[in-house]
Amino acid sequence: MARVFNFSAGPSILPESVLKKAASEMLDYQNSGQSVMEMSHRSKVFESIIKSCESLLREVMNIPDNYKVLFLQGGASSQFAMIPLNLMNGSGKADFVITGQWANKAYQEASRYGQANVVASSKDKTFSYIPELDKSKFTPDADYFHICLNNTIYGTRFAELPDTGDVPLVADISSCILSEPIDVSKFGLLYAGAQKNMAPAGLTVVIIREDLIGKARYITPTMLNYKTHSENDSMYNTPPCYQIYICKLVLEWIRDEIGGLEKMKELNEKKAKILYDYLDSSKLFRGTAEKKYRSLMNVPFVTGSEELDAEFVKEAAARGFVNLKGHRSVGGMRASIYNAMPIEGVEKLVEFMKEFEAKHA
Ligand SMILES: *Cc1c(COP(=O)(O)O)cnc(C)c1O
Repeated sequence: MARVFNFSAGPSILPESVLKKAASEMLDYQNSGQSVMEMSHRSKVFESIIKSCESLLREVMNIPDNYKVLFLQGGASSQFAMIPLNLMNGSGKADFVITGQWANKAYQEASRYGQANVVASSKDKTFSYIPELDKSKFTPDADYFHICLNNTIYGTRFAELPDTGDVPLVADISSCILSEPIDVSKFGLLYAGAQKNMAPAGLTVVIIREDLIGKARYITPTMLNYKTHSENDSMYNTPPCYQIYICKLVLEWIRDEIGGLEKMKELNEKKAKILYDYLDSSKLFRGTAEKKYRSLMNVPFVTGSEELDAEFVKEAAARGFVNLKGHRSVGGMRASIYNAMPIEGVEKLVEFMKEFEAKHA
């Protein structure tokens, strides 16, 4: 069996030891005689899985006690509606920084429910940077202020957080959750589709400050009300059981094999540096995001020739480096180097890029 180096932006690579553990427990989870896929979500054995997933997440991310952790479905994209339905119910206003497609979708969806205000945008340069924020443009009585912390498509991330005062800061952290420590107390709400850095697709994690729960509009569907899931410990209906189980294994891997998020960050910085250093020295390839805002997780790059880009992607795939094609809105290539990508994968990719560059010099 040959495993490839998978640079997919999502669903993406999972740690090999997690996949092996899941495989070994596939037919008989801890003497239950069943797979986690088959068991009742109300069973004692599953209850212990979801409880330990939550307590591991709290431990690894250092989540304060006044925050609830919710295991939901519908992807990060459902949060674009769920957030305004639940939070945009005071002044009915919210602020947005448009740093890419996901941030823009959050903004557009919120516009259906209230007064969504664009504070700044980096659309003028294909979202290759994070715009400077002018505090005088912030809405003082906004119900929340939304950012996308790491921009998966454009490979940028906020180097520092906006100071929103008493306005709750809400962040989409789909593609950077668990990649480095984050001060949860700076946020009112954090959310992530799990398929980038946590688990297979189908699980959405929401971390919400307790005082923001219970403010939903009357029309909010029961399933889209944070209160429903908070009051029922994410078991109002059937949760995505298997994804929660894999998430628990991934969290155990981060805590026990990696050594926590500080260590995870060190590793991620090391990996990203290998790739960025090469891109900065290369005469063929160049990174498309401004240096100051470069993402640790998603690295878009181009050769400057669409033909060469296509040739590179094709040859790379033949050599076992897969899913390197960039998002259609940027073109070129994108290497997503999430937590589970080993350093070796990045080193070998750079070796191959050097070889490709030499051939096309
Ligand atoms: C992938 C991604 C999304 C979309 O997630 P879904 O779970 O597919 O809805 C939203 N925001 C960011 C930052 C992403 O990377």
